[in-house]
Amino acid sequence: MDWIYANNNHSTIVNEKDGVVYLTFPKLVKAGVRHGFSTRMGGVSEGNLGTMNLSFTRGDGDENVRENFRRIADAIGFHAEDLVFSSQVHETRLRKVTAADRGEGILRETVPGIDGLATDEARVPMYTSYADCVPLLFFDPEKRVAAMAHSGWRGTAARIGAKMIHFMEEEYGSRAENIIAAIGPSICRKCYEVSEDVAQAFRKTFLPEQFPEIFDEKGGGKYQLDLWEANRIILTEAGILPEHLDITDLCTCCNHDKLFSHRASHGRRGNMGCFMCLDEEE
Ligand SMILES: [Zn+2]
Repeated sequence: MDWIYANNNHSTIVNEKDGVVYLTFPKLVKAGVRHGFSTRMGGVSEGNLGTMNLSFTRGDGDENVRENFRRIADAIGFHAEDLVFSSQVHETRLRKVTAADRGEGILRETVPGIDGLATDEARVPMYTSYADCVPLLFFDPEKRVAAMAHSGWRGTAARIGAKMIHFMEEEYGSRAENIIAAIGPSICRKCYEVSEDVAQAFRKTFLPEQFPEIFDEKGGGKYQLDLWEANRIILTEAGILPEHLDITDLCTCCNHDKLFSHRASHGRRGNMGCFMCLDEEE
């Protein structure tokens, strides 16, 4: 498949089942946790939402979205009606979910204002949604905890990835050095021009010497921001070992024919989903 920058660093696996194309991350695959990141391919939606739109609020027919969820669930291997949705407001509130929460978001309302989900229970599939923002995935094979966080520029400046690691430590007794993590498909440094307000937010939470690692300053109050590198710094400073971390090289904007990109489509796009689900222990 003709992806731009696809797997130059072997950080992302392209999978296909019954026409549904989805991505996985090798260290999480090796650790044995069920997960996947959807693409635009394999769904029934049309036009700007084509074909695998996973949002009920971007102008698609509910029946299309339900069929898309059914297909991606079938491909990755969980029950769509069991999904628990985040509700993503670009903040850093995190939430533990359990079997009692199954269906929140797809069958009934979910808890508002949540940008990260975690569970230690089997068969509780979790959903977070994307179109340029950074998906962060976590799995602790010792305590058997799966977690995801939505890290756009606001979440990254507020270090939601580190907050999730501390959340796993406090709520489940995880140790950072055991956690396997992935930084998933999102907008790349070359595609992501930002303004002074964004740079200021990062100046508050990153060291001055780290600033050139994550920003190219172009003058005129314009910068190119590297959310992958910013999240790499955040996760490794919080204790994730480099050998436990996959960092994608797949950009949503560069690959906007295969992945939804808010920037490339000027907002006329669907949502992709990132999914994680613990299986019963054998
Ligand atoms: Zn790009």
